[in-house]
Amino acid sequence: MKTPTSATSLDRQIAICILLFVSVFLNTAMAQNKDSTIVQQIIKEANENSQLEKLGHELLDVIGPRLTGTPQMKQANDWAVSAYKSWGINARNEQWGQWRGWERGVSHIDLVYPRVRSLEGTQLAWSPGTGGRSIVAETVIIPDLKDSIAFRQWLPMVRGKFVLISMAQPTGRPDENLEQFGLKETVSKIKKERSDQTAAWAARIGKAGLSARGALARAVENAGAAGIVQSNWSQGWGVNKIFGATTKKIPTVDLSLEDYGLLYRLTEAGKKPKISVRADSRELGLVPTFNTIAEIRGTEKPNEYVILSAHFDSWDGASGATDNGTGTLTMMEALRILKKIYPNPKRTILAGHWSSEEQGLNGSRAFVDDHPEIVQNIQAVFNQDNGTGRVVGLSGQGFQHSGEFIPRWLSAAPDSVKARIQTTFPGTPGSGGSDFASFVAAGAPAFSLSSLSWSYGNYTWHTNRDTYDKIIWDDVKNNVILTAILAYMASEDPQTTSREKAELPVNSQTGERAKWPTPRKATRKGGVD
Ligand SMILES: [Zn+2]
Repeated sequence: MKTPTSATSLDRQIAICILLFVSVFLNTAMAQNKDSTIVQQIIKEANENSQLEKLGHELLDVIGPRLTGTPQMKQANDWAVSAYKSWGINARNEQWGQWRGWERGVSHIDLVYPRVRSLEGTQLAWSPGTGGRSIVAETVIIPDLKDSIAFRQWLPMVRGKFVLISMAQPTGRPDENLEQFGLKETVSKIKKERSDQTAAWAARIGKAGLSARGALARAVENAGAAGIVQSNWSQGWGVNKIFGATTKKIPTVDLSLEDYGLLYRLTEAGKKPKISVRADSRELGLVPTFNTIAEIRGTEKPNEYVILSAHFDSWDGASGATDNGTGTLTMMEALRILKKIYPNPKRTILAGHWSSEEQGLNGSRAFVDDHPEIVQNIQAVFNQDNGTGRVVGLSGQGFQHSGEFIPRWLSAAPDSVKARIQTTFPGTPGSGGSDFASFVAAGAPAFSLSSLSWSYGNYTWHTNRDTYDKIIWDDVKNNVILTAILAYMASEDPQTTSREKAELPVNSQTGERAKWPTPRKATRKGGVD
């Protein structure tokens, strides 16, 4: 028979309940206290002992751009390893493939007839050089002919000449400048001229039967041209996009809008201008490509991972300062601070500096393929890759429960940092654009820390103006604080993150439900046919 609960026993039960409650409360309070102490220390270290500008100078000014397959990419890999080691952090370069080795030398392009002017331009990445000498030759413009037969008949004309293959822009003024000062009718006239010209130029190349990427350059090259001159304007003052060449034997150079326009008008007017081009690149055969991986080993759950992610490579029209120097510096500085303030994390914290992102997320895709043991145990990946701006967006990338754990982590960040971040949960999975997508495709919770633009698209992304001076250090520091706090909170979280995928939206036009992106293979031997 059950004895009735005595008054003393009831009191004891109440007392135990209170004790339990108090201890849970105290534990939570202590955890929150520990969190806020670590967070305060992270902020203090980031603000009072920032290494960002020093690291930025070493990486962007001294080493410079980090084109895949260049000695500068390898130099950057080695530099990062030694920087990490100087902070007591284990780091290594992991080879994942090979690429065509190439090194840029001096590019010099001058107008030499009918007058002398040094032109602003550069050789495109991986372009053949001029064999240690200057080539002086006349210029010719791709003509507007009626069809591909007429074009084939004209093609021998290019022999020994520099061929202008781009349209000449009607104005070098960006739209916002036109709109600020132009009469309404002037602005619309200029914009119409530009779109008509663009369409006419596309039709000109189409009629020649050479619209496919690289087809025009190859036709001109095979017909014996001295070289190719192009201008890929990025719609801002003095800014061009600089990508890779498609020629195999002759140099391809890009000229500024202003100088290309000058050369184009002289050629079109029959003034028979001549330019002198010197491009001193070197071919280095196949070279190994590496990801730089740095690691602070976890103490309680060493086989679960928080990954700080940013691609390390860049295009080489400038210094790759905002694509992705700033992302790289953010992750390095965040890991440095974590090592100092939080040296014994619960989970392992890795920094992944991927190479060959620009040729198709190759470094991160290779890492995902080569390290299933890590990818299956990822707590979170934080990737940053869209410029110098402070982070203003964070999407759950289609993970059903992202709206539970991300806000939990974000709550520890100072108001000034988190208040301007617009979150979207569960969001939809990104299928490309940067390295987080390699992890998302494999079903691992990976997120993009999305930055404010600072005119990234026009002015610094893949341009000849992506240089140190464009960096807004306060914003990068903001991102360091955010990243370090997110990494700390994700590492300490008592719960392992859920990988459950949200039901994706139905496309209203096709009636089909969007599919989760599938993993793609890295190109492991690149730049060679
Ligand atoms: Zn990038």
